[in-house]
Order: sequence, then structure tokens, then C-alpha cells
Amino acid sequence: MRNHEWLETRFNQIWNLFFPEVERKMVFIRWKGFWKNKFGHIRKTGHGTEIAINRLFQDERVPEDVIKLTIAHEIIHYMHGFHSHLPKQFNHPHAHGVVNKELISRGFKYAIKNEKLWVKNNWFALYKELRKTPVKEFHRY
Ligand SMILES: [Zn+2]
Repeated sequence: MRNHEWLETRFNQIWNLFFPEVERKMVFIRWKGFWKNKFGHIRKTGHGTEIAINRLFQDERVPEDVIKLTIAHEIIHYMHGFHSHLPKQFNHPHAHGVVNKELISRGFKYAIKNEKLWVKNNWFALYKELRKTPVKEFHRY
């Protein structure tokens, strides 16, 4: 069941395994939104830095690698100094493909390739179907 605990466990595992040297201060993760063209985001809130993952990804038909890749993507923004206490390394969060370059250097090349194929072949049809699912069937946090 992809509830809050599930997401938090994945988040901690990915941070510790793939980004052990990135200092983490007041960062939390949550399910949020029912987005078609956005998988996640990162922003500062009054409680610290929020990483949000598309709530539609609670559905088991969304490959776990897509969620892992989204989490890693947002951690890289944090690492580059966006919405974090760390020094800002670029003017724009996606300047010159810096996120994908970092993902590839940390071993996510396979996941990027698989995600592209999955988005093209599966995501939009699944999105259409999921939008018919009553909101109460998704976990709130
Ligand atoms: Zn991004």
C-alpha cells in the first residue's frame, strides 16, 4: 500500500543510498496533487522544504522506478541549492540538463529511459482512468 509511510521509507532509502554526502536539513516528503504533466515538485514552506510526489502515483500500476526517479530528481534540486540551505549552483534549476546529468552520474540512466517509454506508452491512458477514481480512494498524506 503506497501510503505516507511507504513514501517516507522510499525517500529515506534513496537519500541515504544515492545522496549520502548531501546534508539534509528540515526536508519532508508528501503525496500531493493529481497532476498530468508534473510528477513532483520542491518548495520551501513554513515547516521546512517540501518535496511533493503526484498523488496519482499511489496507484500500483505506476512503476516504482518512476517514483524513485521523481524523488531523486527533487533531491538533486535540493542539492543544487534550490529551496534548500545549500549554496545555489545554477541560475535555473534545469540549466543545461543538470538534473539529468546528475541522475545519470548516480546510476539512474536505466530509469530515465524506462520512464520515457512508460510516459509515452502508458501514462496518459492511465491518467485518464485515474481521474475517474474518487479522490477519497487516495491517501491524504
Ligand atoms: Zn525539476
